Amino acid sequence: MNMSELPGLRQDEPMSRHVSWRAGGRARQAYQPADVADLCSFLRTLPPHEAILFVGLGSNLLVRDGGFDGTVLFTHRALNGIDVQGSTVLAAAGVPSPHLARFIAKHGGSGAEWLAGVPGTIGGALAMNAGCYGGETWNHVVSVQTVDRAGDLRERTGADYEIGYRHVRLRTGSEEWFVSGRFQFAQGEEVASRARIRELLKKRVASQPLHLPNAGSVFRNPPGDHAARLIESCGLKGFTVGGAQVSPKHSNFIVNIGDATARDIESVIDHVEATVRERTGVTLVREVRIVGEAA
Ligand SMILES: Cc1cc2nc3c(=O)[nH]c(=O)nc-3n(C[C@H](O)[C@H](O)[C@H](O)COP(=O)(O)OP(=O)(O)OC[C@H]3O[C@@H](n4cnc5c(N)ncnc54)[C@H](O)[C@@H]3O)c2cc1C
Repeated sequence: MNMSELPGLRQDEPMSRHVSWRAGGRARQAYQPADVADLCSFLRTLPPHEAILFVGLGSNLLVRDGGFDGTVLFTHRALNGIDVQGSTVLAAAGVPSPHLARFIAKHGGSGAEWLAGVPGTIGGALAMNAGCYGGETWNHVVSVQTVDRAGDLRERTGADYEIGYRHVRLRTGSEEWFVSGRFQFAQGEEVASRARIRELLKKRVASQPLHLPNAGSVFRNPPGDHAARLIESCGLKGFTVGGAQVSPKHSNFIVNIGDATARDIESVIDHVEATVRERTGVTLVREVRIVGEAA
């Protein structure tokens, strides 16, 4: 088939539609595969040095205003499926994390309740080692399936990765992306798990600016401290550049208060980083991923 006729392939795709900040530039090319087999075949058609970016729900991601000069691969609504297999649950990379939380609760498991408030996909949770309220993605991973740019699939386990706080790196250093994860959770009780999900979601609504586009916590918490506390202590709550603002409700969130550019958001991040370093001596590390070229 002629590449330009592939149904899931789009050129010059506005990535602001695909990231939770609702801001930023375009991708030169974007593809939504029909399934895993289609993803593997598509990867084989790409030139060997093509830049590749897997995107789930874009809840931890910003593409600079000048755009991403490569191919984006969308997993959400592409790599689907969630299944109980013996004592484990197999979830495809495009499944939203809140779906996994509810699925585990429904099937009498516990310990996944925290995932209900992480608005990304399983692929994104694996890539970021997403976590909160004491839970962390990789604590529950039995194995993962990955794909490389040759379209070859592999089974891997945690031993193949360097895993830390919001950090996951393949020890071989090779380029692979997550296609699915096999997870194990403790036995639980559905009513109790559902109650815990409600309780944790309530906490989020009370403490996070969920009414405005954001990407969750911008910075990792430094050891023994909270990025939000440090940012607030520097008087940065409400600091604004263009349409981007340090949330007055939660200082580790940057919100899009209307037509923010990626440049606005990155300027706020740079300013917060520099101010916190200057006033407290702490160098904050970014949790959000920023890719692409400046305009
Ligand atoms: C309101 C809000 C609250 C949040 N709360 C939390 C929280 O409590 N804890 C937490 O950890 N995070 C939190 N986040 C951040 C975010 O939701 C998580 O990091 C999430 O796991 C990202 O998933 P995603 O599918 O949106 O990834 P994306 O934003 O699409 O991608 C993030 C990174 O993962 C890579 N990636 C995505 N899919 C794959 C794949 N299949 N294989 C390999 N790499 C991949 C991307 O290339 C990118 O580098 C929050 C975000 C928001 C907006």
